[in-house]
Amino acid sequence: MSKSVEWVDAVVIGAGVVGLAVGRALALAGREVMVIEREHAIGTGTSSRNSEVIHAGIYYPAGSLKAQLCVQGKAMLYDYCVDRGIAHRRCGKLIVANTSSQLAALPAIVARASANGVTDLQLLSREQARAMEPALNCLGAVHSPSTGIVDSHALMLALQGDLEHAGGLVACHSGVSALAATEAGIEVHTADGMRLLARTVVNAAGLTACALAATMQGLHARHVPRPWYAKGSYFTLAGRSPFQRLIYPAPEPDKHLAGLGVHLTIDLGGQAKFGPDVQWTEDPTDLLVDPARGEAFYAEVRRYWPELADGALLPGYAGLRPKISGPDEPAADFLIQGPAVHGVPGLVNLFGIESPGLTSSLAIAERVRDLL
Ligand SMILES: Cc1cc2nc3c(=O)[nH]c(=O)nc-3n(C[C@H](O)[C@H](O)[C@H](O)COP(=O)(O)OP(=O)(O)OC[C@H]3O[C@@H](n4cnc5c(N)ncnc54)[C@H](O)[C@@H]3O)c2cc1C
Repeated sequence: MSKSVEWVDAVVIGAGVVGLAVGRALALAGREVMVIEREHAIGTGTSSRNSEVIHAGIYYPAGSLKAQLCVQGKAMLYDYCVDRGIAHRRCGKLIVANTSSQLAALPAIVARASANGVTDLQLLSREQARAMEPALNCLGAVHSPSTGIVDSHALMLALQGDLEHAGGLVACHSGVSALAATEAGIEVHTADGMRLLARTVVNAAGLTACALAATMQGLHARHVPRPWYAKGSYFTLAGRSPFQRLIYPAPEPDKHLAGLGVHLTIDLGGQAKFGPDVQWTEDPTDLLVDPARGEAFYAEVRRYWPELADGALLPGYAGLRPKISGPDEPAADFLIQGPAVHGVPGLVNLFGIESPGLTSSLAIAERVRDLL
């Protein structure tokens, strides 16, 4: 096994949408950047197993990183998509109430969004909602016009293109196996025997970010949260989408939900899918969709779309939410941990970058760049 030692200015671990966005931001700031990815290609992790929704920034607690970076990231992402010709659509979404408690909670959703700077939400009566989406069954709804969808793979390719154009490099087939903080810099060891010495390391390893940080010599264990994994399965709809907009059930008040409920999203090709549900798992590689879970989808979807026919849902794909809070706990915020917190010069750990991480990716990248 060769043990070449190479000096690199900045290493980003993980070529998901966040790692690529961070690598791009550092390269554009004049840094010499290497993004290291253990798989054969970019974006094979959570970044290609999500709803591809550009979130408006509605649900997150005011002042949280999720709220700030989602709202900022949404604006940056729409601009970037226009600039770079990345397929996207500002299709809007309806948050629908089907119980009296959901209905009573709709104004609070509008108020929370407004506290986050999302001031374009509109409360709709049942009739107004049905005028927009005739197939919809609801007692009332909220319309979010700034919600959209994006081709996440095209986005990642554009980020990689910018990164490489600015002199950066993406190295695939290169899994980081260990990290060590030394006087000279941060040592990065890869499974294939490469040893790098870096001034800056950004840990954007998604589902394995916590496990990787736990291997780092010189980083105190109290700075590494316990990882949790919440699997979300999707079922696709055979046939045409009955809706033009995304349809989300309103959250049930006073529940700490790990997801946003079984919602309908549409991809840029017009294919509708439902999901993701929530299934806690100990296994960060557990990505098979159990067809039996489809049964529960029928009941949930028929609350807002009663015409869903028997047999119309087909098992799709699953993604895993990289969580740092467990079941029945309030959802944790993004954790962007720099040297001021953990004391290791040049290191930034990104923990718990679940939804809205895709939407927030460009804003997270700026935040990381500024921390360094
Ligand atoms: C079901 C689901 C639905 C979602 N829907 C949305 C949505 O609609 N909108 C939205 O904004 N967000 C959504 N999200 C969140 C979003 O997908 C994530 O926040 C985002 O993709 C995280 O990107 P990432 O780059 O941090 O992680 P990843 O995409 O997981 O990338 C991490 C990369 O690191 C690599 N890696 C891991 N360990 C190592 C190692 N040791 N060495 C080298 N490389 C390594 C992995 O192979 C992977 O490529 C959703 C998430 C889930 C699970």
